[in-house]
Amino acid sequence: MIEHNDKHDYPMNNEKVVYLKGLDAEQLKEILVEKGYQEYRAKQILNWIWKKGESDINRWSDLPASMREWLKGSFSVEILQLTDKRISYDGTIKFTFSLVNEPNIELESVLIPSRDGKRNTLCVSSQAGCAIGCTFCATGTLGLLRNLQWYHILDQLLQAQKISGKKITNVVFMGMGEPMQNLKNVIAAIRKMHDFFDIGYRHITVSTVGIPKGIIKLADELPRVRLALSLHSAIQEKREKIIPLAKAISLDEIVEALKYYYEKHGRWLTFEYVILPGFNDTMEDVTALVDMGNRVPAKINLIPFNPFPEAPFRAPTKREIYRFAGILERKYPYPVTVRMPRGRDIAGACGQLALLHKREQLKESQ
Ligand code: SAH
Ligand code: SF4
Repeated sequence: MIEHNDKHDYPMNNEKVVYLKGLDAEQLKEILVEKGYQEYRAKQILNWIWKKGESDINRWSDLPASMREWLKGSFSVEILQLTDKRISYDGTIKFTFSLVNEPNIELESVLIPSRDGKRNTLCVSSQAGCAIGCTFCATGTLGLLRNLQWYHILDQLLQAQKISGKKITNVVFMGMGEPMQNLKNVIAAIRKMHDFFDIGYRHITVSTVGIPKGIIKLADELPRVRLALSLHSAIQEKREKIIPLAKAISLDEIVEALKYYYEKHGRWLTFEYVILPGFNDTMEDVTALVDMGNRVPAKINLIPFNPFPEAPFRAPTKREIYRFAGILERKYPYPVTVRMPRGRDIAGACGQLALLHKREQLKESQ
C-alpha cells in the first residue's frame, strides 16, 4: 500500500519517504513553507516533474543547490515502475507498470499512434482490475485490486511520453477499470492533463459501463470531456447477462443521465458496442439500437470482440462484422464506425496482459 500520513495525507513509502509526484500544489506549498521556503518554489518543482518530465532532482537548475540537497534527502520522485513494454507491428505500444511500493499491483496503458502520424492516443487505466466483472472483459475477471490515485493516472502519460518519445495528443479512459467508480481521482487527473500536458478537454474521452451518478457529476465538473457509454446491448435483459451491474441500473436510468450530459456537452456522445457474434448482432439488436439513437444523439463504435483464454464468446468473423455494421448503418440515425483492433499481436486490448501475468504467477505457485 502507498501509505498516507494521517495528518497531511501525503503518499509515502515504508521508510516514510514522501513521493513528490504524489503531492499537489497545495500540499507541496505547505511543506515548503513549513521548511522556510517561498510558495512559488512549489510551481517550479511541479513544472520540473510534470511539464518538463525531469525526475533527476540534480537537474532542477532554477532551485538553490541547498534546496536540491534537502529535496534529495527527504523525498522520492517516481511512483510507477515500467515492468513490460511491447511494440506491435502496427506501431501500438503497450506498457505495463507496477506501483513502486506495491509491486504486486499492475496496470497497463496502450499508446496508439494514428495512421497519418498526427495523433498519439493514450489509453489509460483508472483502476488496477475492475469490480464490475463484465463477462467479455479480461480486466473484469481480475476483480478490483485497487483504485489508482490521480498521480498514478497522470504518470501513465508522462511515462508513455518519455519512453516512446511521442507527444500524447489524446487520452481515452478505456484501459483497466471503471472511471466512474474512481471519479474523484479521474477528474483530478484530467484537470492536470489539461494544465501540465496541454491536452484539450475535447481530446479526452471517459468510457463508462453506465453509472448515472458519475455521468451527472462529470457533466457538472468537466462538460467538455467526451463521454462514451459501453452499451453492448440496447436490450435490458441481454445487457444484464453480460454486465452484472445492469441488474441494478436500468438502461432507462442511464439514458436520463446521458441526456443530461448531452445538454451540457453539446456534441454527440459515443456508444461502444463489442460485437459478440450470435448474442448481440441480430435484427432485434439493430431495432433496439435505433431506438436508443432516437433517445440520445450518439455515434456507434463497433468493436470486434477480442477473445482471451476461457472467454465465453468467440471473435466475430470479418463477414459478421461488416454484415452487422452494414445493416446498422442503413437504419441508425448517427454515424456507425468499426474500430479495427490495433496491437492484437501484443494483446493490446484492455486488461489482457495483466491477466496473463496473473495466470503465469498462479500456475507457478500451484
Ligand atoms: N470500464 C469502462 C472502461 C474500460 S473498458 C467501460 O467498460 O467502458 C474499455 C472498453 O473496452 C469497453 O467498451 C469495453 O467493453 C471494451 N472491452 C473490454 N473487453 C473487451 C474485449 N475482450 N474485446 C473488445 N473490447 C473489450
Ligand atoms: Fe470493468 Fe469496463 Fe471491463 Fe466491464 S468492460 S469489467 S466495466 S473494465
